[in-house]
Amino acid sequence: MSTTSIGVLEAAEKQLEMAAEMLSLDRGLLEILRHPKRSVIVSVPIRRDNGEINVFTGIRVQHNDARGPYKGGIRYHPVVTLEEVTALAMWMTWKCAVADIPYGGAKGGVRCNPKELSVSEIERVTRRYTTMILSLIGPYQDVPAPDVYTDAQTMAWVMDTYSQFKGYMVPEVVTGKPLHLGGSEGREAATAQGLIYCINRATETLGMRTKGTTVCVQGFGKVGWNAARLLHEQGCRIIGLSDSRGGIYNSRGIDPIKVYEHKKRTDSVINCDDCTNITDKELLETECDILIPAAVENQISEENAGNINTRILAEGANGPTTPEASRIITEKGIFILPDILANSGGVTVSYFEWVQNLHREHWSEKEVYEKLEHKITKALDDVLDAVKKHDTDMRTAALMLAVGRVSDSLRTLGLWP
Ligand code: NAD
Repeated sequence: MSTTSIGVLEAAEKQLEMAAEMLSLDRGLLEILRHPKRSVIVSVPIRRDNGEINVFTGIRVQHNDARGPYKGGIRYHPVVTLEEVTALAMWMTWKCAVADIPYGGAKGGVRCNPKELSVSEIERVTRRYTTMILSLIGPYQDVPAPDVYTDAQTMAWVMDTYSQFKGYMVPEVVTGKPLHLGGSEGREAATAQGLIYCINRATETLGMRTKGTTVCVQGFGKVGWNAARLLHEQGCRIIGLSDSRGGIYNSRGIDPIKVYEHKKRTDSVINCDDCTNITDKELLETECDILIPAAVENQISEENAGNINTRILAEGANGPTTPEASRIITEKGIFILPDILANSGGVTVSYFEWVQNLHREHWSEKEVYEKLEHKITKALDDVLDAVKKHDTDMRTAALMLAVGRVSDSLRTLGLWP
């Protein structure tokens, strides 16, 4: 168990307690929300390509379903722990509530290093893990999605495995599928697109110009790369980028598409033409207008929060900022777009995908993004209203809104038996 993952769960619990206190929430309701409804650990044995058997650990945590079926990604990572997945499941509950979509929160993962596995080994991990949690998932029960180091192909395998057991195709059991298997237009870039809608609203609120606005992005995966690309397209200047191997910097601006091509060839953003290599730490502390952490949790802590030099912190990743760092950053006057709001575009378009599957419909990308912009702008406005109403900061307001909505549902449902 890594100390980082313990820190993540502690951070999630602290956030809940703080919101509960500010809402004067009943102690019993707080206890219900503090505990996930179900946590499952399974073993995932697979035969490697060389004939050896390896056993991986798989986890699925279902935090709360008072507002609808559980929803949450599946990640493949060498340090996935129960604590980390529990925190992420809790954040999913809050995210769906802030976005006001009819889902609860869940998360899953397999502790493995996908970089050391072949494609067919990853397929066997996925199919075996899905089989082990088969009775817990379903279109009205728990709907998984991609997360760190999983993608549309992974979701196709989950859907196929589930469907084989059912005897018919069930596309609505997962979201984030390939387009030709019931995926939604716009899903791949949905989280980044939602982040951009939030950033644009924030820059408008702060009276900042878009053109020439300087941006640093940590993480160059699905969220980071798409966010960099979309901001570059609308005239922002991307000055820093990073991935797990390090970062790059160019004060005159970086073309994310060139970096994407470079990463495809070399497997990393580092050593890209016309850029200086920097450390990940230097990237986070670079002076810029917008800083987007889009990698993993706990990247901004007490240790570096004082050195963060940006006007807007737009959290693409889940839990990138510890509670103490968040306090320091808020005191510095940095405008925070908190994760449960800022990266809710992904789960919102996942919800659209589920609705399309259930109705056997297919919407255009234009329709998807119009609906997304409406949903996420409404969520941001609700949070800004909560900031005023409770005289508090963005993160606390978003949490209070979410915890308040989930508690309202729990209170009305009552406790069975
Ligand atoms: P991804 O696997 O596509 O990309 C992750 C990126 O982060 C990779 O470029 C990796 O090299 C980099 N990275 C990992 N550790 C790093 C480190 N210590 N420093 C710098 N870079 C590092 O994952 P993703 O889907 O882009 O997810 C990124 C974050 O966004 C995660 O926290 C995830 O939970 C969150 N998120 C993703 C979605 C989505 O739709 N994909 C939705 C909401 C939230």
